[in-house]
Amino acid sequence: MSDYDVIVIGGGPVGENVADYAVRGGLTAAIVESELVGGECSYWACMPSKALLRTGHAVAAARRLPGVTATYDPAAVLTRRDEIAAHWHDDGQVRWAEGAGITVLRGVGRVAGERTVSVTSADGTVTTVTAEHAVAVCTGSVPTSPPIPGLDSIRPWYSRDATSAHEVPGSLAVLGGGVVGVEMAQAWARLGAKVTMLVRDPRLLPNQEPIASELIVDGLRADGVDVRLEAGLDSVEPDGDGVVLSVGGEKLRVDKFLIATGRRPNTSDVGLASVGLDEKGPLTVDDSGRVAGHDWLYGAGDVTGRAPLTHQGKYEARIAAAAIVARAKGQTAEPEPWSEYAATADHHAVPQVVFTDPELAFVGRTEAQATQEGFAVRTVDLDISTAGSYLHAENYTGKARMVVDTERDVLLGVTFVGPDVAELLHAATIAVVGEVPLSRLWHAVPAYPTISEIWLRLLETYRSG
Ligand SMILES: Cc1cc2nc3c(=O)[nH]c(=O)nc-3n(C[C@H](O)[C@H](O)[C@H](O)COP(=O)(O)OP(=O)(O)OC[C@H]3O[C@@H](n4cnc5c(N)ncnc54)[C@H](O)[C@@H]3O)c2cc1C
Repeated sequence: MSDYDVIVIGGGPVGENVADYAVRGGLTAAIVESELVGGECSYWACMPSKALLRTGHAVAAARRLPGVTATYDPAAVLTRRDEIAAHWHDDGQVRWAEGAGITVLRGVGRVAGERTVSVTSADGTVTTVTAEHAVAVCTGSVPTSPPIPGLDSIRPWYSRDATSAHEVPGSLAVLGGGVVGVEMAQAWARLGAKVTMLVRDPRLLPNQEPIASELIVDGLRADGVDVRLEAGLDSVEPDGDGVVLSVGGEKLRVDKFLIATGRRPNTSDVGLASVGLDEKGPLTVDDSGRVAGHDWLYGAGDVTGRAPLTHQGKYEARIAAAAIVARAKGQTAEPEPWSEYAATADHHAVPQVVFTDPELAFVGRTEAQATQEGFAVRTVDLDISTAGSYLHAENYTGKARMVVDTERDVLLGVTFVGPDVAELLHAATIAVVGEVPLSRLWHAVPAYPTISEIWLRLLETYRSG
């Protein structure tokens, strides 16, 4: 007799969803969690980072209207962030899990052979539990750092420090121009820090459409952020409570130094070698979340490296749990594209919002990706200028790009950059996932006056070209 039908290693948003959907499907499930149930997202990533940004954005939006002189108290933002991060206690999430019928096992989980997981608790006690049907590895990701001379002599910030700090630093340097770098640079600048960004590439967010970088650089600079593109960091050294950075011959002293240069899948200490798997790089899974050659082993979320975002990981979790439940009932659960057993959207329909001001919202392929993949591509670029955007704010500035597969008359990707464009994204995601022909999208009429009227302008431009 096994202890559980399904054992999930890692109780972040993804692991929680694998367990929840397995239980909903009639199986028993346990989550093994070494830190806080709820994972990175709830305490150190999505939730606290958005809490740090939200007030500044709301106040900036108000100030775009004539006669508004809104201000805010940074201390109140930090207090609200603490509440949103549940003061770094997971009682609420544990209550939810237990209420959903999931057993929570505290400790470090490691695969210890087929269908077997060892759990090392804080006092060093090791217990072994077995799974009847599946073990799912949902251990997330960890930050990476480039080799920087002097790094060992300082205590840098990583994303956890940047999202959980209890004081606004006087000055902050941010290394990296990816999502975490741009969001945290703006959050702390708006809370009062003097922020310098050091970005190796000639633009921010290099994997996204170039229009994104242009407008976000403008937005950051308007907030006083010193954005330095193509900037190299030579070395770092401690200076009292701060850090001195050597940047191309210049010495830059800052109170805090945030390394935001990316993350890697957390596979290095999860026991994968016990079943002959590589412990470097992502845990490779098929579209149903299953590891080739191990019909009982699954992975979902950041650890797979497929689409490291909370919403996409939770989607993978729902798919993997559906496959586990079906296979437990003796069904084949083939991961046919777009079936309930295949995370097909991971390949070319992933939506993402970067919560800067202006916001960036995109789904699917960029023009460069679509061209590289050999599609017959036509791109439509427009300023977001509609009755809706005019009403939304004085001098509203935004851009939209639509990437069309001209052979099939469907959208491959859509990007919006501008204040408050995040809520435009789901319409684009539906169009991309549904492969809705543009001739039919013509009948999807945007309400007047909304920023969504940009859809009509994009289609008009496409049809007239
Ligand atoms: C600053 C920041 C902001 C972000 N903002 C967003 C956003 O706005 N929207 C978005 O979609 N995504 C965002 N992300 C990405 C998002 O946080 C991740 O995609 C998401 O947390 C992945 O969920 P997960 O469950 O796979 O992993 P995690 O949330 O990392 O959870 C993994 C869990 O596994 C546990 N664990 C690890 N190893 C073991 C082990 N051996 N035994 C037991 N437990 C273990 C960990 O303690 C953790 O609780 C952000 C990331 C960062 C860093």
